[in-house]
Amino acid sequence: MFNITESNIRLLIFLGALLFFLILELLVPYRSNSVSKFKRWINNLSMTLFNSIIITLIFSAAIVNTALYAQSQQLGLLNILEIPTWLKVLVTVAFMDLIIYIWHLLNHEMPFLWRFHRVHHSDLNMDVSTATRFHVVELVISAVIKISIIFFLGAGPLGVMIFEGTLVLCAQFSHSSLKVPRWFETLYWILFVPPSMHRIHHSVVIKERDTNYGTIFSFWDRILGTLLTRVSQDKIRIGIGAYAKPEKLNVHQLLVMPFTRQVK
Ligand SMILES: [Zn+2]
Repeated sequence: MFNITESNIRLLIFLGALLFFLILELLVPYRSNSVSKFKRWINNLSMTLFNSIIITLIFSAAIVNTALYAQSQQLGLLNILEIPTWLKVLVTVAFMDLIIYIWHLLNHEMPFLWRFHRVHHSDLNMDVSTATRFHVVELVISAVIKISIIFFLGAGPLGVMIFEGTLVLCAQFSHSSLKVPRWFETLYWILFVPPSMHRIHHSVVIKERDTNYGTIFSFWDRILGTLLTRVSQDKIRIGIGAYAKPEKLNVHQLLVMPFTRQVK
């Protein structure tokens, strides 16, 4: 019963926020598109649909069941400590975000993982639909990592659901091509990742791309020395240098991309 409710909540957050950010992007875009938004959306949403069938059906249930199992058996670090529930939730969100940060960094540093992660970075413009453009293999490995961490932490279902919901919302916002008011960005930036920070990460310039790995919190990049801010936003070109042609970035090409030639 819980599984059904959990995936429904996640789907509702995902679709609601997708629509919300799409409307905002269309109303107040950060800049005009260099390639057709419609064609990119067809590709990105096809990837999303394909991934959802595999990931949502198999792994969402596995993730929540692991959290339920860890809770019922009192397994993991958080179940040894006598701390209030709100603190356990906070530790779960922060720790899992740190793991996702490290995982993201490895995706850039290890050539084998980059083969899959480059599918995400090959998008020629960045908007809310980019947030779910991933190769299914990358998502499967990250789901296995999440499950192991939940087990190790003994994270409960509440903490895991809040983490998953926050992750979806933050990823969608940081990828959106929204024009964000400066005052909001200044405040948001203290703790979280605004679109301007993530835009640098999607630059074709490799030195810029290999920075700003955070998804929810911006302080991991600050603490671990991977933060880059001094880049002129107007000059950022999104994508990967080797994949400049939109006609070569259709769904079937994206699905086989990891198994083709190595590209920086
Ligand atoms: Zn990346």
